[in-house]
Amino acid sequence: MIYLDTAASYPILPEVKQSLNEAFEHYYANSASSHLLGGQVSDEINKVREQLADQIGAYPSEIIFTSGATESNNIAFKSLLLGKEVSEDKKHIVTTQVEHKCTFAICDYFKSIGYEVTYVKPNKGGIIETDAVTNAIRPDTAFVSVMHVNNELGTINPIDEIGQVCFDAGILFHSDAAQSFGKVDIDVDDINVDAMSFSAHKIGGPKGIGAIYIRDLRKKHLMPVIHGAGQEDGLRGGTVAAPLILGFGAAIKYFGKYYYSFKSKNVKQYFLSKLKAENVIFNVNGADTLANCLSITLPETDTDTLVRKNETLLCLAQGSACSSKEIEPSHVLSAIGLTREIADKTFRISFPLNIDYASMDKLADEIKVFS
Ligand SMILES: *Cc1c(COP(=O)(O)O)cnc(C)c1O
Repeated sequence: MIYLDTAASYPILPEVKQSLNEAFEHYYANSASSHLLGGQVSDEINKVREQLADQIGAYPSEIIFTSGATESNNIAFKSLLLGKEVSEDKKHIVTTQVEHKCTFAICDYFKSIGYEVTYVKPNKGGIIETDAVTNAIRPDTAFVSVMHVNNELGTINPIDEIGQVCFDAGILFHSDAAQSFGKVDIDVDDINVDAMSFSAHKIGGPKGIGAIYIRDLRKKHLMPVIHGAGQEDGLRGGTVAAPLILGFGAAIKYFGKYYYSFKSKNVKQYFLSKLKAENVIFNVNGADTLANCLSITLPETDTDTLVRKNETLLCLAQGSACSSKEIEPSHVLSAIGLTREIADKTFRISFPLNIDYASMDKLADEIKVFS
């Protein structure tokens, strides 16, 4: 099997597996318990909190562990908007047409309770331009949310510029960094971001764990999304998932190194050189993109047969990961102007970092067979 869907979920790194095994064996106590073992677990959790904070230029006290980026996005919107951080007459949200589906669902909720939402359109290269965000901002805008890297296109948005615009206008700024974390350098102060969402399973960590950064967390009056027994500064109740957090820590420690050496191998260029250029449309040509993610359209290829005949060989995302079983074309591809027919012939190829040349040759050969 050739797995080319790492943007949907990255296989567990060997170092993460080892750390999970150790954690499940040794760190089973409840981190809130006052005995020796509880204290040890709490210390281990806080080491990962420090590690994550260090990586993004934040303080450990600004990091909350969550179940993943979906929950972090929920906390970003709900804790900030429904707390006491913005005045009650500000009920306008700015986000984009290319966010992860969970953000749309959260915005639908806010619309149901009286907010207005503006969805900024990307340019043809899939990038959210700073000017487009500036133009969407109104006097009653409370919150701007723009993802760092898009999960279908791999495009990198200029969130440092967007953060500056929000800072100058005194508007809270959130960014979903599920796809960028571990691959693109992040400094929360350079970006002027107030909240940022992370997920472990996009970088070789376990599923079901993630984090959110919230600037000056303890000074803010935030609304908890999960009311509980005071864990995670009262913002996110429930016994803290120590083993998963330690696995997340191992992913943070090792994924970046693998990604760095992957980048130096120019895998994307190698793969593209294997395809006949005239049969491939690069959807975000020229845009700033991740090294391991590629969105291509194969207009002359019988893509349905290609997928069907290779069911047991290739794991590829056609359309988008979350909506590929639905009939609707992906909202991201629609937003960059692709028709439904063309969207159907579009693939997101997201390489594992240890992909070998033989696998890429095989993929290119299979595409040629059906073209
Ligand atoms: C995967 C992903 C999510 C969801 O993350 P989970 O940890 O699975 O909840 C959110 N946003 C983006 C951009 C993603 O790629």
